[in-house]
Amino acid sequence: MNIIWWIRRDLRLHDNEALAYALEQGTAVFPVFILDPALLNSQYVGEKRLAFLYGGLRQLDAALRERGSRLLLRQGSPQTVLADLLQETQSELIVAEADHSPFAKARDTAVAVTLPLRLVGSTAVKLPGSILKQDGDPYIVYTPFKKGWLDLPLPQRSQLHPVPTQINTPAAPESDPIPDTPALPDSVPFPPGEIEGLRRLENFVGSNGRSVYDYAEQRNRMDLEGTSRLSPYLRFGMVSPRRVAVEAIEARSRARSEGSRKGALVFLQELIWRDFYIHILHHFPHVAQGNFNEKYDRIEWRNDEADFAAWCEGRTGYPVVDAAMRQLVQTGWMHNRARMIVASFLVKDLLIDWRWGERFFMQHLVDGDLASNNGGWQWTAGTGTDAAPYFRIFNPTLQSKKFDPNGDFIRRWLPELADVPDKFLHEPDKMETAVQRQTNCIIGEDYPAPIVDHHAMRDRTLAAYKESREAEG
Ligand SMILES: Cc1cc2nc3c(=O)[nH]c(=O)nc-3n(C[C@H](O)[C@H](O)[C@H](O)COP(=O)(O)OP(=O)(O)OC[C@H]3O[C@@H](n4cnc5c(N)ncnc54)[C@H](O)[C@@H]3O)c2cc1C
Repeated sequence: MNIIWWIRRDLRLHDNEALAYALEQGTAVFPVFILDPALLNSQYVGEKRLAFLYGGLRQLDAALRERGSRLLLRQGSPQTVLADLLQETQSELIVAEADHSPFAKARDTAVAVTLPLRLVGSTAVKLPGSILKQDGDPYIVYTPFKKGWLDLPLPQRSQLHPVPTQINTPAAPESDPIPDTPALPDSVPFPPGEIEGLRRLENFVGSNGRSVYDYAEQRNRMDLEGTSRLSPYLRFGMVSPRRVAVEAIEARSRARSEGSRKGALVFLQELIWRDFYIHILHHFPHVAQGNFNEKYDRIEWRNDEADFAAWCEGRTGYPVVDAAMRQLVQTGWMHNRARMIVASFLVKDLLIDWRWGERFFMQHLVDGDLASNNGGWQWTAGTGTDAAPYFRIFNPTLQSKKFDPNGDFIRRWLPELADVPDKFLHEPDKMETAVQRQTNCIIGEDYPAPIVDHHAMRDRTLAAYKESREAEG
């Protein structure tokens, strides 16, 4: 039987359940990727992420060619493209990894009405629906979800599928070229593809990597490279999430100290956050449009366009916010602590609808992913699942002093503050005029004064949230 392997968010040959199934069942396998205009034209698309995807497809094609196969790329609606390709390749089955976002589920359901589609494997480590409360309802709080996750049999190395040595793809039909624009800017430090994803995994968590053992200590420090930077590779399945989990579990068993054990466990727990948000989006698809918690549907956002532009461009006058936003726009990535700080600032200090920030993140993040991004934004806004109380409002200056203690992160992204003395770096507007002159940083000219007063805005936001709760009864 000929089989189409429909690649979506699993751009890899290692531990690929859908591919393994296709190879097991088929005599010939046709690897196919479809560029769907419905996705390409969405306002959530980001050029850096698209360029990363195209680079990943090029690398996948090269890896397939080394194994006697090749990638078939087509543009169009999946239903039409797949119907044509079933005929052209004389295939009887389409195999794909399950993707649990509302868009993907609707697309796959529509395809399966007329075409033979089988979903095998998942973008999550644990399949949505496999971790439920005793009464059968989904968890909406992370900690018990995590316990449920850890209580299930843990993934093991023996389950991981090896990279196939040969893939039989006879006389594949014409492929459209993989687009070369947009190109990945040099400022994006994420070379696309499975090889780089696996290299990072090995260096951070694998048997030769030790960084994971410092993870619990260092992961919140924005000035250090204390996290894996695997998110873009996980986003496109260039590394298998199950493989990452196995490496973390094994690193934990190898650990020689309590601190190291904790590092590996905390890293695994972050991967469980990823699963948590995939499950939330699966069970509560309405979060993609609005608040998980309807009590906050009546918040009167200020939605000031000029403030939003200042946030996007990194000129709010709060150095930690501005440094992080410039990191995002230039590199397509931002540290998790910084994501929380800038998200809290947008929502709680500027009183701008979290969906504006969510969209801007999607337009710039290489790892931009509906489930994690929406989960992160709603968590910070206090409108989401989990213990995300509305009164949690980050003080950007205190966060900055705590998680960038020497100001290295700020100095790296804000060259205009290069000569500002350490003690003023987190709040340069506190410098007296003479110091501003000495340090070549005139507030209001070289660097903006804070666009809002944190304490005043805090009170205003708490009032806006309270009014919405009361209006919703
Ligand atoms: C407002 C906001 C928006 C976010 N948007 C995204 C997004 O679009 N895509 C995305 O992948 N992550 C998102 N995150 C989660 C997190 O910030 C990133 O996954 C992390 O910073 C990626 O860096 P890393 O690979 O070095 O992570 P590490 O700390 O090394 O963690 C390892 C992996 O665990 C997963 N992970 C870690 N933290 C989280 C988390 N809080 N939620 C879900 N998964 C997590 C990621 O897959 C990550 O690659 C967001 C967080 C916030 C607060």
